Amino acid sequence: MARYTGPVCRMCRTEQKKLMLKGERCKSDKCPISKKRAAPGKDPRGRPSKRSDYAIQLREKQKLKRVYGMLEKQFRLFFERAQRMPGITGENLFLLLERRLDNIVYRLRFASSRNAARQIVLHGHVLVNGKCVNIPSYLVKAEDSIEIKESSRNFALIKEALKEYGKSGVMPWLQLDPDALKGKLLAFPRRSDITDLSDIKEQMIVEYYSK
Ligand code: SF4
Repeated sequence: MARYTGPVCRMCRTEQKKLMLKGERCKSDKCPISKKRAAPGKDPRGRPSKRSDYAIQLREKQKLKRVYGMLEKQFRLFFERAQRMPGITGENLFLLLERRLDNIVYRLRFASSRNAARQIVLHGHVLVNGKCVNIPSYLVKAEDSIEIKESSRNFALIKEALKEYGKSGVMPWLQLDPDALKGKLLAFPRRSDITDLSDIKEQMIVEYYSK
């Protein structure tokens, strides 16, 4: 499976937004965005240049794609699927992205970043409704149960990531039993529920792909 292998923090610097791609480091003062580092190639003392509508739309699309760790081809397929669904395309896109198994594993606090969640899924540590699923883009359905395989429950990385549950819990559309390392997707989230990405303007992404 193709994936981005370049410098990760550079993506956040380009977008000038914390995309939270590196787990604990993102919350520390080592994060280049916390240190207010400029975008690559930009003079930190320079004036911000005026951006065209196209440039704004492109940046919104890149931000969302990078948050969920996807490459263009797969992201475009998700967008086309969102277009075919009834309702508002931008909201459908968020719903599909949130239903990805790697995202749910991250949201259930089994991993400290979506990248780490993808590795956990790829290495076969996750069961969906009791069966091993090793496809990060697998779309979880409402009422599906997601758990860490019994033989993987003592992994230090998973235990470490789970500490976040004690601090912040899980999103309201999810449920977690932290002792059993077992969670559930209670219902599909609405766009307004995805509060940590509320600054992303999905309408811009729809306009980008409508050209
Ligand atoms: Fe790097 Fe995380 Fe900061 Fe992004 S948010 S720049 S991935 S440390």
